[in-house]
Amino acid sequence: MNIKYIGRDSTKLVRGKIHVKKGKYTACGARIDDNREDWVDTAERVTCEKRGCK
Ligand SMILES: [Zn+2]
Repeated sequence: MNIKYIGRDSTKLVRGKIHVKKGKYTACGARIDDNREDWVDTAERVTCEKRGCK
């Protein structure tokens, strides 16, 4: 399952970008569980270009 960022903190992450989910983090190292409402599980294709997700 992948995960999409839907939060509004654009200084931290790009809204709408889809990452690989690895437990409490994305595969590129962003934390998910501190603002879980900013993330939604998705079956859409990964769009993150960072190391780990790509
Ligand atoms: Zn990523």
